[in-house]
Amino acid sequence: MQGSMQVPLLDLREQFAPMRTEILARIADLADRQEFVLGPAVESCEAALAAYCGAAHAIGMSSGTDAILAVLMALEIGSGDAVITTPYTFFATAGCVHRAGAEPVFCDIDPTTFNLDPAALADLVEQRLHRAPDGSLRTRSGNRVRAILPVHLFGLCCDLDAIARIACAHGLPVIEDAAQALGAEYRDARGEIFRAGAYGVAGCYSFYPTKNLGGFGDGGLVTCRDEALARSLRILRNHGMEERYLHHCIGGNFRLDAIQAAVVEIKLRHLDGWSAARRSHAALYRQRFASHGLDGGALMLPAEPWADRGLVNHHIFNQYVVRVEERDRLQAHLRQHGIGTGIYYPLPLHLQPCFASLGHQAGDFPESERAARETLALPVYPELRGEQLAHVVDTIAAFYKAGA
Ligand SMILES: *Cc1c(COP(=O)(O)O)cnc(C)c1O
Repeated sequence: MQGSMQVPLLDLREQFAPMRTEILARIADLADRQEFVLGPAVESCEAALAAYCGAAHAIGMSSGTDAILAVLMALEIGSGDAVITTPYTFFATAGCVHRAGAEPVFCDIDPTTFNLDPAALADLVEQRLHRAPDGSLRTRSGNRVRAILPVHLFGLCCDLDAIARIACAHGLPVIEDAAQALGAEYRDARGEIFRAGAYGVAGCYSFYPTKNLGGFGDGGLVTCRDEALARSLRILRNHGMEERYLHHCIGGNFRLDAIQAAVVEIKLRHLDGWSAARRSHAALYRQRFASHGLDGGALMLPAEPWADRGLVNHHIFNQYVVRVEERDRLQAHLRQHGIGTGIYYPLPLHLQPCFASLGHQAGDFPESERAARETLALPVYPELRGEQLAHVVDTIAAFYKAGA
């Protein structure tokens, strides 16, 4: 026991304190102008994020969820269609596929990165899907596969080249769920560096307050290369309306608020610094766990597969997730010692009650199921102090020393 040090999983108050004056002044300015939805603050934020993400276009959205839904709608993916994605992600990824009217087709994850496994994807295409006479890829229920929707989970980019190879072979666009990976980098086989979301046809991001770039409420963004797609998204986010009260298509209210855009744009200037701090915490975790002989044994630390590709943001550690067999007991032990942790995610999506109609059962995606039982997120927010991190490691070491 080391006294009563508290280590929350995340503390946003420490992040806000040094930006308080600037952010409140900007909000006061918007209040004086009575600018609320879309408008110059959103346009300015979109331009800053397009530049940061390395995308030609950025379109502010009301949430990360709506960003995904709007992209599916813009690509006219709906009834009779299917989208391949991972069952080990936040619900919105597959929820949006269903809401668009399409069938989510799940593909298991790589046990070291927790991201969509390209080998499992190849198996899925060869064994669970078939090519129809018209050349399209179909599910058993006859739905036509229209896209692959990988998630860059916890701030680490997927193996995009491997996924894109399979996508290309079948003429499928890759839509990136980059809600946890804004700023994460990937170097492709030709040496070109992409920021998460800029590799595929579209990237979807979230400004939910707990994300690495969070607003003061809900918000999101889509980035894309194609001008026509960007135009569709701008129309769709405003009820399909181009000219006032004339609707050529049916969209939704997916608009971003001015206050969210202003907060996000101010915070964006700090993002690389925060990512560097998260990465340095991850390095310290590795060093300290190793000194206790805990790296790779009872405790599997996050994989960093892109660390040797000359990238700065090869991982942005939106979450710092370890794998342990006795997860629930360790979590209880940490809670007793004032340490906050999180479980992302306790039940994979193929086993969610709302997806029972897809007909999956336990055992269908064993790596996703094992991850759901064994993963634990430890505190890694940028302002985490060295002694807090040491307390986390020492408390975990004591758990194992006591004979887990
Ligand atoms: C947060 C998140 C979303 C949804 O974003 P919201 O802004 O909360 O709607 C989608 N996908 C993933 C992987 C997420 O983490």
